[in-house]
This record gives sequence, C-alpha cells and structure tokens, in this order.
Amino acid sequence: MIWRAKTKASSGHPPGSEIRRSEMRIPRKVSIRSYAFLHGQGRGLLRRRMKISLLQLPIQGHDFFFSNENIPLAAACLKTVAAQQNIDVQLMPRHLMSYGSDQAILEFLIDARPVLVGMSCYQWNIERSLFLARQLKRELPLCTIVLGGPEITPDNDFLLQHGDFDIGVVGEGEPVWEPLLQSFPRIPKLPGLLLKNKNGQWHFTGTNTSRVSLRLLSSPYLSGCLDPHVGKVLWLETVRGCVNRCAYCYYHKQSPRLRLFPRERILSEVRRARNHGIEEIVFLDPCFAKRPRLGTLLDRLAADKNTGGMGFHAECNAEDIDAVTAKKFSLAGFTQLEVGLQSTKAGTLRLIRRRFHPQRFLEGVKHVQKGNIKVRVDLIAGLPGDTLDDVRRSIDWVLEHEAYDFLMLYALSLLPATELHQRSRELGLSAIPNPPYFVTRSPEMDAAEICQAFQYYEERMGEDICPLEMPSALDPKAKDFSLPGGLRNVITWHTRDQIQPLSFVWGRTAYAMTICFSADVLKLPAMWVPLLRDYLEHNPFTLLSVEVPPDSFPEDLKPLWQLAEDHGHMMDRDYTVTHTPYRSFLILSRARDLIWKWPDPRESNPLELPDGQKISYRPTCLVAASEKTSFKWLVDHLAKRYSTLPEIRVWDPPENED
Ligand code: SF4
Repeated sequence: MIWRAKTKASSGHPPGSEIRRSEMRIPRKVSIRSYAFLHGQGRGLLRRRMKISLLQLPIQGHDFFFSNENIPLAAACLKTVAAQQNIDVQLMPRHLMSYGSDQAILEFLIDARPVLVGMSCYQWNIERSLFLARQLKRELPLCTIVLGGPEITPDNDFLLQHGDFDIGVVGEGEPVWEPLLQSFPRIPKLPGLLLKNKNGQWHFTGTNTSRVSLRLLSSPYLSGCLDPHVGKVLWLETVRGCVNRCAYCYYHKQSPRLRLFPRERILSEVRRARNHGIEEIVFLDPCFAKRPRLGTLLDRLAADKNTGGMGFHAECNAEDIDAVTAKKFSLAGFTQLEVGLQSTKAGTLRLIRRRFHPQRFLEGVKHVQKGNIKVRVDLIAGLPGDTLDDVRRSIDWVLEHEAYDFLMLYALSLLPATELHQRSRELGLSAIPNPPYFVTRSPEMDAAEICQAFQYYEERMGEDICPLEMPSALDPKAKDFSLPGGLRNVITWHTRDQIQPLSFVWGRTAYAMTICFSADVLKLPAMWVPLLRDYLEHNPFTLLSVEVPPDSFPEDLKPLWQLAEDHGHMMDRDYTVTHTPYRSFLILSRARDLIWKWPDPRESNPLELPDGQKISYRPTCLVAASEKTSFKWLVDHLAKRYSTLPEIRVWDPPENED
C-alpha cells in the first residue's frame, strides 16, 4: 500500500504549522504553566557562597524542534527571587539543558559541583530527570536534589518508586523556596514537601495552602534572569490559577483561585519582547478570556502595538468571546487562539466537567476568525463516556461546521493527582503506568478503538499526523545546521579508523545523534556494536538515527535492529500512532532526492500494552519526498529486499519549513 500524505503547508495552512506528533501529545499550555518555587532571604547560602543549579529538560525530537522552545520559566522565577536576595542561582547553559546528551549534562554538573540541583519536572522529562538525579547522586552524594513541577505529587506511583532525589516540592513552589534556602542544608518543617523517612519511604508533609502574592514577584524577563531571545518565542503568565475544574487536569488543583500579575508588568514584558525582536508571545493563562478586566489589557496591548509583527497566542473557551471581545483581540495583535473542545457529547463533557454550548461556540469561533485570528480546536480520544463513534462525531462536527483553522486530536493522559486518575477504578479507566500515562481502555473504548480514532482523524484531515521526524544531520534544508555551544549531533564512520569509542566525545554530544555508516563499516558489527551499546547505556535518553547506504539489505541491518530493540525510550510508548510506534531509533537512507526510514522488524509483530492488549501495525517505510520527486523506483528497490512489500508512506516536507 502506498500512502501519500498532504502536509498542513501543502493544504494551505501557514508556514511551519505542520502537525507535529509530539506536539499533539503534549498540550503545551496546560503542561508548561509555571510551577516555580520562590522567594527567599537565604543569608546562610549567601555567606557560604554555595552553588545552586536549576534546569528544565526539553521535549525531545530527532530534529530538536522543541529544544528551541524549552523556556525554563519556572527555574528563571526562582533565579529572579534568589537574585533579589543576592544568592547566585545558575540556570544550566541553554545549549546543554535543551540540546545536550545525558552525559554532556552530567559532566557539566559534576564539574560545577553544586550543593543543590533543582529540576522542573513534566510528563515529557520526568524519567530523564530521575535518571540524571540517580547518576548525580552517585557522583555527588552530598548534593541535594530538589524536584518540582506538575509531576511531583504524593500519588504519582511512578515517581514514588524512585529514591534518587531528596526533596519533592508539591504544588506551587514559591512558598517553599525561601525557607528551603534559609535553612539549607537542613530541611525545614513545611507543608508541600515529599520527603523520605528513615526507611527510605516517601511521605508527604501535607498540602501547602499558602500562596505568594504575584504583585511581589519580579519578572524574570525584566530582571534579565531569562534570555528573551530563546527561539524567538516567549511565554508569559498574566494570571495563575484556573476557574475551571477539568477532571483530567492537575493545574487547577494546586492553584484553584485566579491571581493576577500586575498589568503594567505584563505590558513592560511585552514591550521589552518587542524591542528584542521576539516574534511570538504565548500567554500561558488557562482561559485568557476569563481574565478580569480583559478589555483594558487588550486595549493597552493594542495601543502599544505600533512596531514589529509580533503575534500573540492564547487559550480560551470560544463561548466566552463575543464580537466586541474578538475585535479587541484582533486589534491587540492576537494571531491564534486555542480552544479546548475535547468532545461534543454532553454526557462525556459532564463527566470531565467541561461546558459546551454549540451555538455560542460556533459564534465565538466565527467572531475570532473574522478578526483574522486562527482558531486551533483540541479534541481528546479516550475520554470516559465517549465511544469511537462519539469521537468520530466530534471530529465531524468541527469539520462540518468549519469551526477551526487547525484541529488537533490528543490521546487522553491519566495524569497523577487528577480527578480522572483518582476515580480511574470507578470510571473503568486503565492507562500506561509510565509517562505519558496514555489511557489504554475506558468502558467505551479499548486501545484498538483509540487507535482507530486517530486513523479516522488522519483520514478526515487528509494529512499525515505522524510525519517522519527528520534528523537535522540528514535534512537537506538544514545544510548549515549547527547546534549551540558546538555540540555534535553527527558522527561519521566511513572507514575503520573512524570507529572510535564515543566516550571521548559524549561530553559534547547532543541528545539526538546521527551515525553515518559506509557499506564497509556496516559489515563490521563486532567493531561498532559494543561502542554504540556503551553510548546508549550511558546516554539512555538518546534519540539515535543511523544512515546506511541505500543499497543495503535487511540482513545487513540486523545488528542495528537488535540495538534498537534493547534501547527503550518514552517516545516508543505512543501506541496510538498511525504507523510505527518505534521512533526513538531510526535507520535511514538517502538516494535520488528521497530520504526513507527502513521498516523496523518489530512492526511485524503486535505491540503488547502493559494491560495485555495487543495492537498490530504494518511494516512501514516512511519516505520524505517533494511532490515533484518520483519515488516509484523505491518500490522496486524495496521489492527486491522484502518478500512482502512494506507500506510506503510518502510525506512532502513543507517547502517553507525552517
Ligand atoms: S482546569 Fe481545564 S481550563 Fe483550567 S487549566 Fe486545567 S485544563 Fe485548562
């Protein structure tokens, strides 16, 4: 079967807006809201001039797409507060934090010898953060490791299996940070902490109900603690807290009341961003249209909008937007609004505590679109109450009413500490126990049906929702690509002499690596298998791509596939993909302007989920080709190599992709 996919760019959407599978998986605004710890005197630390390092690991991808958007806002808030107290808190250098391999990050920290390392933990980085914590503890046993962020909850069974950190900060961290610094290295008696008892068991010191006044916090951008140039995108909070109570969300539980950052601070941050050439500001507010005195803020943003083409993005309910508000959004410079619809079925929405008024929703979307603002609508597959037909109906409803510019379908994650997680038994939900905690069964849908929902979405959109993630080293459009800090993302093994232990370079490698083999070297697995195995053991969160000569045969690739099978990565847990779920280890070839991924032998066997369900996939050859490039010869090429031809999915990379 040959499957030719349109991309968003080829179907008339704006440049660079092609559907990103990993983006689909991580609802970024929900996930990245600030979970800063804050506020401290820390005179003890000042006297002792101790080193504190903070970091936030990125969403990983072979092409580093999300590394560019890894903005450590929470860590920067901590740095800002510490700076006010004359305590030097260092953010890990961006090139290492956002692009570095596991060993590159570890070597930096071990050399720096900090007394305290803090990590912001989200569903996409918690496992890697815990790995780094474990390695750090081995090398620097006296270093205190503090984890914060939405993954740190007292009922996160996955987290509590690990004993490699010292303190978990549950919920908003600012109220904890000051006493933590002041009493360091003694741990203060405070609510809001996960601590180990004498038997090494975790115990929770109780819910911390104190909240910091946002009026007292300095801006990490205005204070210069956070580089505003990161990826030309800037994230801003104008509020903390949420008035909604969605059952799949944890954010509102730790910040139930809406608190506002001062308007003048927000306007100053926007002005500064504009002066620094920032192209896009993403407001992290969960419901931007619910911000008290919204009209005044929009008017002020509009009045300031005299230079530059900066665009604003925000999230809100379509029902909250009337014609007047939509006009104000437009005049203020908003270019995209994201609306979480999730489902159109009333019973499902009741279960997850969402509201939906079809007529007002449609009117809200139309008002927004009239103002030249793109609307991105989100749906979720696997919600309790939704059958496969219900998900299809939700997709159809949005499409038939043309109530979208971008439509996204997400898999439901059973996030720790959410209402759905707490009621999972009663609601009949089961999920993968490790991040990203995808639901695998509800009373209405099993895993195969959840997969079918994504296939239906793909068919209806006419787009490949999981295009080949092109490693930068092989991407023809990234000819002059180089990573910040001189990190290496490509190693060439074309001759025997070039096959060297990778331990000499892993202090300077990136987390996504491409190894380029010649035909001769490919025939010498005894030389290179131990070296690659050693690299992956020491850098288990590596995304590896291997380029092999195009005339290779599947037998030549066996040692590589064996390595791939032994290399587990969170990226391979997404069972809902419309083709291969094995995406952390790619074998690729290039010829005649085509780049293709060889079918992974594991695709021939069903994938067994933790709850015993099995999902079947077809062996797939993913091909990147422009519309003008013929790929017919590749069919013959593969036919000579496989008794049964794999599915060939041809993807047109957008011409204008950066
Ligand atoms: S409660 Fe709902 S609206 Fe509020 S942050 Fe969570 S998902 Fe968003």
